[in-house]
Amino acid sequence: MLESTPVTTFKGVGAAVAEKLAGLGIKSVQDVLFHLPFRYQDRTQLSPVGGLRPGVEAVISVEVVLADVVIRRRRSLMVRVADGTGSLMLRFFHFSQKQVEQFKPGTKLQCFGEVRRGPGMLEIVHPEYRLQTQGVALQETLTPFYPATEGVQQPTLRKLSDQALDLLDQNELLDYLPAKFLQQGNMPDLAAALRIAHRPPPGADVEALMSGMHPALRRLAFEELIAHRLGLRLLRVEAQKNTAPMVNPKGTLAQQLLASLSFNLTGAQQRVFQDVAEDMKTGAPMLRLVQGDVGAGKTIVAALAAANAVEAGYQVALMAPTEILAEQHLLNFSEWFEPMGVSVGWLSGKLRVAQRRNAIEAVAMGHQRIVVGTHALFQQDVEFLELGLAIIDEQHRFGVHQRMALRNKGAVDEKSGALSLPHQLIMTATPIPRTLAMTAYADLDCSIIDELPPGRKPVQTVAVESGRRGEVVQRVGQAVDAGRQVYWVCTLIEESESLQAEAAEDTVAMLNDMLPDKRIGLVHGRLKSAEKDAIMQSFKSCELDLLVATTVIEVGVDVPNASLMVIENAERLGLSQLHQLRGRVGRGSAQSSCILLYQAPLSQNAKERISIMRKTNDGFVIAQKDLEIRGAGEVLGTRQTGLAEFRIAELGRDADMLDDVSDVADALLSNSPKRVQGLIRRWIGEEKKDYGGV
Ligand code: ADP
Ligand code: MG
Repeated sequence: MLESTPVTTFKGVGAAVAEKLAGLGIKSVQDVLFHLPFRYQDRTQLSPVGGLRPGVEAVISVEVVLADVVIRRRRSLMVRVADGTGSLMLRFFHFSQKQVEQFKPGTKLQCFGEVRRGPGMLEIVHPEYRLQTQGVALQETLTPFYPATEGVQQPTLRKLSDQALDLLDQNELLDYLPAKFLQQGNMPDLAAALRIAHRPPPGADVEALMSGMHPALRRLAFEELIAHRLGLRLLRVEAQKNTAPMVNPKGTLAQQLLASLSFNLTGAQQRVFQDVAEDMKTGAPMLRLVQGDVGAGKTIVAALAAANAVEAGYQVALMAPTEILAEQHLLNFSEWFEPMGVSVGWLSGKLRVAQRRNAIEAVAMGHQRIVVGTHALFQQDVEFLELGLAIIDEQHRFGVHQRMALRNKGAVDEKSGALSLPHQLIMTATPIPRTLAMTAYADLDCSIIDELPPGRKPVQTVAVESGRRGEVVQRVGQAVDAGRQVYWVCTLIEESESLQAEAAEDTVAMLNDMLPDKRIGLVHGRLKSAEKDAIMQSFKSCELDLLVATTVIEVGVDVPNASLMVIENAERLGLSQLHQLRGRVGRGSAQSSCILLYQAPLSQNAKERISIMRKTNDGFVIAQKDLEIRGAGEVLGTRQTGLAEFRIAELGRDADMLDDVSDVADALLSNSPKRVQGLIRRWIGEEKKDYGGV
């Protein structure tokens, strides 16, 4: 089985190389086959020098006309070569005396490299070359370039894929996709597809191969998407074979909570809470995704579900992707539940050892009925006495595997020996286009809070060139004078928290100068969480007028009196991120605005994004556009999390296949259990334990 044959059986793969390969995700022979090139070079034919253009990579067969070491700005070796159709310069910055002597006039060479415009004529800098005594040695196929890593470079990867392709010829990988589906989609069989992807024949459509639109790649992506969907569907089937706590209380606690609120639920909130409450009554584990645009009021729905679980005698875990968000939930939940005598606990990664030990003990003893936290809640040593409901907020930031880890925090029923799983409520503010949801969340039921609380006015969005910052600051001053609060978001393209923090500090200094009588706070990712907390808290309680922040405030933060947001370098942010940020305002009844400060000139793409932000506040529209512009990895936040760990497929690019994917997957599921097993083993492999013991 190529799936399970370790790559160490290959020539030249010792322990050291194997470790580096593992870093590329390559452990088995099959992994080598699925590690596809990201570009190709055409070394299958000679190009006449006279026909070369800047920017192309070409193999040329030439004779040295003249070689000379010149010292201008840098010492360099210039070798002028010609082939009868034209001439060209080879330029070397690093060279040995031996090389200089090699290039005697009349010497025949074969060179490969990227042609570029030189001062006098076209040139190739540091070409690959070899002296040519006899005929030329051209490649039979295009030359692949693989994602590489330090210590494992192209030659190694090419040798590995050569060996893997040989094996593939000898002992065919089983093609689990029935031929009729392949014919329908005009797709090659598995072995052919892999061969084309690794060693395309001369004249192959390189563009299509690199963009994933080639039938060979489409076929691989198709199979992978099917496997992924099968995995999730089976996960669901398996999960539902388990029991879950019957949560069917009178509803006293939820009533009490509702009565303590200053508002009534919207129709959408009521409906979604009903869905959730019904799910939890059945004794089978709930697997429900609640989508709701920013500000739709998901938190209270989660709290009501929690109230039911607590009243029925179970514990609740509430997990958020960032400390700030988790802390905010902690505040809300404490405020709501403590007066009703329900203790709310806290478990974050930043607890000190002793605190953490105490927290874990309180959870294990069942003293804490609701526990709020971050990823720390997933950790192995966290055991609940009687977990009935797991709530995951802003799910798109959690990967599938984390979802599984939590699911596994259920308890074995002592009488029947069956696993009792907690109900799962997953909340996301990233509206997910239907096709995506179908694949990425094939294991979940879905409810949508499609109504905003009454009195919300859509945020008015304008774009202002950063040269007019002065006017913007004035407007900030006016908003504060009118009793409103303001966010000023500093963004940098660098991921580096320290650079972001620096930029934010500069902005604070600038604003302090221009608005000396205003109270200005600053939060960024490098502050300790207690400091962040204190500042957020003073902004919330209106002790600060203006909060300068990095994108740490992106998700979930809730200060209804804040009605103006300025976003710097807005052109650098993706649509979903802009939408999330903007969702921090427009949460109260006042008319809110968002000012997108940008640096001119705008790229076409940035122009489009900004114009969409100005036109609509509808998260679904924005998500759909985002998907079109950036692709699914970004929309679902998979870059950071590895959610939907696709090797080849890309949800956005391959979205048009998803309908077929679910049809074929469902057909396989009902008719071909063997193929299902094979596909899951092949594509999901080691993670299979997470897929409910498939
Ligand atoms: P999100 O869905 O983005 O998580 P939140 O749950 O944070 O939104 O709610 C946003 C704000 O709206 C909060 O201040 C919350 O108290 C308020 N809110 C929620 N539901 C309602 C409602 N039905 N009527 C009025 N305000 C509400
Ligand atoms: Mg929220």
